[in-house]
Amino acid sequence: MTLSPATLSRPRTVGTVGRTDVVTAVAALRGALPGAVHAPGDAAYDALVTPWNLAVTLAPAVVVAPTTGQEVALVVRTAAAYGLSVGVQCTGHGADGAARPDVLVSTRRLDELAVDPAAATARVGAGLTWAPVVQAAAAHGLLPVTGSSTGVGVVGFLTGGGVGPFARTDGLAADRVRALEVVTGDGELRRVTPTQHPDLFRVLRGGKGAAGIVTAVELDLVRRSHFYGGALYLDGAHAAQVVHAWRRWAAGLPEEATTSVALLQLPELPTVPPPLAGRLSVSLRFAWTGTPADGERWLRPMREVATVLLDDVALKPVTALDSIHADPQDPMPGLERGLLLRELTAEAVDALLAVAGPGSGSPQVVVELRHLGGALAREGAHPSAFDHRHAVCSVLTVGIAMDPAVAGHAETVRGALAPWEDGGVWPNFGPAHDDASARRAYTPSTLRALAAAVADHDPDGVLAGGRYLRALPAVP
Ligand SMILES: Cc1cc2nc3c(=O)[nH]c(=O)nc-3n(C[C@H](O)[C@H](O)[C@H](O)COP(=O)(O)OP(=O)(O)OC[C@H]3O[C@@H](n4cnc5c(N)ncnc54)[C@H](O)[C@@H]3O)c2cc1C
Repeated sequence: MTLSPATLSRPRTVGTVGRTDVVTAVAALRGALPGAVHAPGDAAYDALVTPWNLAVTLAPAVVVAPTTGQEVALVVRTAAAYGLSVGVQCTGHGADGAARPDVLVSTRRLDELAVDPAAATARVGAGLTWAPVVQAAAAHGLLPVTGSSTGVGVVGFLTGGGVGPFARTDGLAADRVRALEVVTGDGELRRVTPTQHPDLFRVLRGGKGAAGIVTAVELDLVRRSHFYGGALYLDGAHAAQVVHAWRRWAAGLPEEATTSVALLQLPELPTVPPPLAGRLSVSLRFAWTGTPADGERWLRPMREVATVLLDDVALKPVTALDSIHADPQDPMPGLERGLLLRELTAEAVDALLAVAGPGSGSPQVVVELRHLGGALAREGAHPSAFDHRHAVCSVLTVGIAMDPAVAGHAETVRGALAPWEDGGVWPNFGPAHDDASARRAYTPSTLRALAAAVADHDPDGVLAGGRYLRALPAVP
């Protein structure tokens, strides 16, 4: 059976379906997209549904893996016709357990990739992670503006704004987006640019999956083949002198430098270098886009601040960018909490060290401070739904979700830093799915723009990612 708009009845009210409707809808989807529809019990269901973040359990009635934007539109229209809600997942690095869609669109088979070396642009299907894009661009001396881990999905990262390891040189990743193709909740596949559907162009860059399922993006690339950078791993016993020295040093760095510092308590695993396993260490990340000699000169004082356990800072090809943060590659059950600071004073560092430094009993695997500013602080050429350009520091805690102490301790960290907190959170580090988190992620103006885009393009509330906007009390 082929479903077209004409064969679909008016949408049932989304969220009011019973078991029979689900069975009928799954049969309709199977008829429309043979081989792409997987229900619980199919091997492909688990492979596509299980997120990278193993702490989150997703249980949609069905997962569909389309291969084109038109197929995504067909899935949305079919689901809507049977009153089912639709969500989206690529890798599950930012898995959203709160959305609970009936139908999950896995973008993994939307895998087109084309680099235009002369224009320094790329067109990327929504199923790709950054890794193949970095490889393809590097062949031409180009680099996309990625996050710290190339295992993260391109679209998931960009729809959250995207702050990467070169953020002070390259700015916000979403500002490099030239165009998006997106299926909105009304089942339309649209091309979105600064001049075509500018309302969607604004909210898709920062608003995550609230206003549509992106099927492909077109990006500007940066001309860069190498960087001087990586991480210095220092003895955690000296965490106080390292973090205080880092704070003073980072404040004077030019825009060619992006840096962060992380208190690490890495487990004893084969993937963890022995000098870092089972102890507190401090990772001082440095990504320098100027000449290697200048980078080496800027970093020199930090090499002397405490005992260096491992020194991984060197001139590297851009394909080695994962080495800067050295994030885990394999799936893990993580619990992340982010916050932003409007200033980072010596007192703020002391407050953080008291709850997360040596002897504090912190259960977190990672407590990270990212130094912001530079190009990140400048507005992009077009409005977006990323509202946090003026924070000076991002704080992120990552712990093992099953550890009962982790969530409470993340609140302890937030409480300790309250005098310096600006109240916001990056959409990528704090998904907005309720009133409180939405108001941390977005200003009232952005929330109104998001709510308006969802009302205009998803009148029946088909997309689960936009549901929280309907439940928000009126935004002043
Ligand atoms: C190890 C690690 C490192 C990270 N580093 C950084 C970093 O340096 N900077 C940073 O900004 N963030 C970072 N993040 C956060 C990451 O960018 C977000 O979690 C991002 O949403 C992951 O995208 P994904 O597609 O891989 O994950 P998924 O869980 O598949 O998607 C997460 C969300 O992204 C949205 N989304 C995904 N695909 C689509 C689509 N096709 N259309 C519309 N919406 C979509 C949806 O809201 C979805 O719920 C990191 C996360 C991890 C786990």
